[in-house]
Amino acid sequence: METAERERRLVLTSERAFAAARHTDACLLVTAPDKKAQLAEVLAVLRIDVTEGRLLSRCAACNGEFAARRALPPCAARAPQCA
Ligand SMILES: [Zn+2]
Repeated sequence: METAERERRLVLTSERAFAAARHTDACLLVTAPDKKAQLAEVLAVLRIDVTEGRLLSRCAACNGEFAARRALPPCAARAPQCA
């Protein structure tokens, strides 16, 4: 949790005891019963609007945003800040 807080990341969990033991905003309890519903819950809670233009727009290695969408897979397109 300390790493998540330091790096301003969010830990998603469906474990109530884990979430209850943490007194931090860096932990989100996901309560939906299945993966599809969990995804919808997280997107709604975090107010994330998924549009086609945003799909595959970030590097899987560093989370950097690609300058322009390319036909290449993310690992080949490389965000500018990705080593
Ligand atoms: Zn990268």
